[in-house]
Amino acid sequence: MDRSSRINFNGPPISGVRSSAYCIPTATPEADGTLAWTSTTLVLVEADADGKTGIGFSYADTATAKLINDSLAEAVAGCDALAVGYCRQAMIARIRNLGRPGICSMAISAVDNALWDLKAKLLDLPLVSLLGQVRTRVPVYGSGGFTCYSVEALQEQLADWTGSGITRVKMKVGSEPGHDVSRVAAARDAIGLNNELFVDANGAYSRKQALAMAQAFADAGVSWFEEPVSSDDLEGLRLIRDSAPPGIDISAGEYGYDSFYFRRMLQAGAVDVLQADATRCAGITGFMQAAVLCQAFNLPLSSHCAPSIHVHPCCAAQPLRHLEYFYDHVRIEKMLFDGALEPVNGELIPDLSRPGLGLEFKHADAVRYAV
Ligand SMILES: [Mg+2]
Repeated sequence: MDRSSRINFNGPPISGVRSSAYCIPTATPEADGTLAWTSTTLVLVEADADGKTGIGFSYADTATAKLINDSLAEAVAGCDALAVGYCRQAMIARIRNLGRPGICSMAISAVDNALWDLKAKLLDLPLVSLLGQVRTRVPVYGSGGFTCYSVEALQEQLADWTGSGITRVKMKVGSEPGHDVSRVAAARDAIGLNNELFVDANGAYSRKQALAMAQAFADAGVSWFEEPVSSDDLEGLRLIRDSAPPGIDISAGEYGYDSFYFRRMLQAGAVDVLQADATRCAGITGFMQAAVLCQAFNLPLSSHCAPSIHVHPCCAAQPLRHLEYFYDHVRIEKMLFDGALEPVNGELIPDLSRPGLGLEFKHADAVRYAV
């Protein structure tokens, strides 16, 4: 598609797209059932049209920023800034020979998110109004509880959230399965019986292990068991879902990069709640498509990580249960974005006085993390 063939429907042309990456060390080492890390990379996109700049981002490798600058920026330059779906199709066409999942979809996500922010700013609307608001606020759950934390640190983090009015908290399990039941009991002690306790194994358990853990966790009042086995093992997820005690929901979907993935997971009957991440699944466009798929399967949706990207789409997605308020990303977004929201009584409320996502990137504060 050369620039002369680009259709301008009714909006101003996109005059520029650029990406930059920032590597932020974690506060302390972090680990889950299958991975450990000491830094997190934020890939920012800025998209310009008619004197406005939209911003979007993903948490991804620096290769994502390179792909955007080397290829996707040119694919959408000159396209109609109001035609987000057209731009998305142009990007999907551009990466055909590279493969859709992973870096390509994260790159498309960051650009798609910036284009939604840009469109809302051009129309001077908060993004949720542009998407079509269905709720005023979105419930969150506190998410962290890393497997490398001491029991005391685990208890302190979870109790801090419940003390602030967040009534659902999630901890990681699976790196040392022999300790998981006692750590879950310690977490339950810390938060009491009136708050919900979630666990996330990040695919660490075998099927048989996960079946035994589902019973033990249910006995401790756990109500959410995320990725008990690999999310690529749809039959395994279905087995755990069908066999687990009734009070415990099975969830997965954070590695969904397109709507075909979500459809397969839903058709397999693999989950009670689908998770989707707008920084991976080809952006807010892909997230809203996941919401429609959930409606068609009569199941709830929960957003994964990157809370500042998800507040507006979560308030526009009909089958939504809650938003993941992930410790690592909350810390980064508070540090680097003006307009990052604080929960009020366990809910995030989009600021309708600000256009777009309601965020401004703090370039001066971020420059020391630039890659
Ligand atoms: Mg997870």
